[in-house]
Formats: sequence, structure tokens, C-alpha cells
Amino acid sequence: MDSSYPTKRPTDATYVDDDFEPPTELLNLPWIDIHNHAHTLSWEDRERYALSGCEGMVMVSSGYHWTPYKPVRADDVRFLWDDAINRRAAIERNHFFEANLGLGVHTGVRIENPDELLEAMADYCALEEVVAIGETGVTPSQHVERWGLDEQRAIVETQMELADAHDLPVLLHTPNLSADTKRSYRPEVHTPGYEKNSGLGQKPVIEGDNPELEAVKIDVEAARDAGLDEEQVVASHADPNNTAYLMEETDCYLSFTIGHSWLVGVTAADVADAIDEYGPERIMIDTDCANVLRTDPFALKRAIFELYRYGIDPVDIRQVVVENPRDVFDFSA
Ligand SMILES: [Zn+2]
Repeated sequence: MDSSYPTKRPTDATYVDDDFEPPTELLNLPWIDIHNHAHTLSWEDRERYALSGCEGMVMVSSGYHWTPYKPVRADDVRFLWDDAINRRAAIERNHFFEANLGLGVHTGVRIENPDELLEAMADYCALEEVVAIGETGVTPSQHVERWGLDEQRAIVETQMELADAHDLPVLLHTPNLSADTKRSYRPEVHTPGYEKNSGLGQKPVIEGDNPELEAVKIDVEAARDAGLDEEQVVASHADPNNTAYLMEETDCYLSFTIGHSWLVGVTAADVADAIDEYGPERIMIDTDCANVLRTDPFALKRAIFELYRYGIDPVDIRQVVVENPRDVFDFSA
């Protein structure tokens, strides 16, 4: 006991162990968010990324959340790609992190004439700022209109062939089981925090006990058929339902999405468990921050500290938040 404090009677300070050394290197550790939709966020949200040490990001433009018309046509998605290209350089000049793009065809809603998009895609893949294809991957159930599994799989596989031809990674949107809720909301308010008319959800196209895992298995099979190296597949939205399969039966990378934990239930604790079990070599973290969802631009920075608290070594944290992303998505170090 150290009794050298001049306090009137002992305080907590008297009993504190001196052997705690704060991991000060984590305060300024740079990090890369390999999956977000920051081009849909506010200027202030993007500034939050910069303020908390973000060195680079992949802004993903693929998705049906932002196409206003239903049914969706190829041109609607093409507009999203062009919008992201239009604004990317200005975002970099405003906030100084390296802002790259992921472009793809999401299968969360059926697109009427997808071949037009797939044909145009090759020219987009050749752009220097396009560092990934995605997010894509078969989806068990669609918004507004169902999309048959065979058609979805073909579209995913074609994108994987393009990825292979252009030496790009594919960002998979692996479906999550949703978090346990204590009580359901009244149906007419849908999901508070998520701007989606969930009343337009369609009957699933994948049956069985675990369609979410089944979808990932179909994606991996598509990658194999496309001749795409599994190390070029990054399964975003990793969760306890798909981690063991992806780690033990594939060479894919896993990226845990922690920017909307309230919705999917995945937190830094899941990331820490995966690092303990499998090592940091094929693990990343992303925020998936987007304007249609209650999301947190500080989530990745918060996770850096939380991983340390959960016992993860700073060297491993660094590998997960900056080195793996640099290697796979070709960011300049
Ligand atoms: Zn996303």
C-alpha cells in the first residue's frame, strides 16, 4: 500500500496498482474503413472520420437503398456509381483521408436489366480510384421484388470474374441474423433507426434452417467457379453465424461491421473472440456508415480501444485496422 498521499483519509489512489501502462500508441493509430457509404453522409460525419484518425476508406456505391424508383433499372444504379465518382475527389480534398470506391451490383432488390450494368462495369473497374467490386453477394430475400437465386448467383459470379480480370477484391454483403430484441415495435413504425419500408420485404428465395449462412456458401462457390482467389474475397458483416465456416473452410477475409451494432448485434467483443481463435491475419473491421441507418462514424476508433480492453495486443489491433486493409485494398501506406 502506498500511503504517501496527503489526503485526509485513504482514497482509491492509495490502492491503485502501478503496473498499468496505457497503450498510448493506440491514441494516434491510423485506421482504414473498408466498407462505408460516406458519400451519403453529412460533411460533419465525414469530418468525424478525419478527426478520429481515419487514413482511408472504401466508399461503396452499389446499393438499392439509394435508388428511388421501384422496380430498379440498370440506369438507376449507374447513376449511383457516377455520383460517387463525381464527388470522390472533393471529399478527399475536404477531409484529407484517402477516399476510394467500391462499385457493384447489389442483389437486395431485383434490377430489371442487369446485363447493361455488368457490361459497363469493366470500364469502371479500370479506374484507379475503384479498389473493390461490391458490395454484392446473393441475398436470401429482396426488397420490393424477388430475384431468383440462379439469376442472383450469375450476377455475383460475373462480378467475381471481372474482379479476377482486374485484380480487385470483392466485398461481400453477407446476410446477418438480426440481433435479439426484447420486444417488437408496432408494425407501422417498421424499424426505428433504419429508413426502409420493411413492409416491402419479399418471401425468401433461399429456404432451409440457415439461409444467411447458405447465402455465403453460394457466394464462395461462385468465387471458386469464377476462378477468383479466395484471398480476394472480403466477407463484410461477418458474425458468429458465419465466422467458423469462413475461417475454417475458406481463405476469405472477414470484416466485422460494427457501425450499427444496435441492428445486427456484432460488437468489438466478437472481433476480439475471432482474433483469439483464428489470429489477426484475415480479419478486418468496417463501419458500414450510411445515411439511411443510425450509424456511428467513430465506431472503428472506439473499437480500437475496446479491443485493447478485451485483451488484444496492440500489434494485432494494428494489423486488423490498418495493415490488412492496406494490403487487400491497395491503399498507399
Ligand atoms: Zn454497406
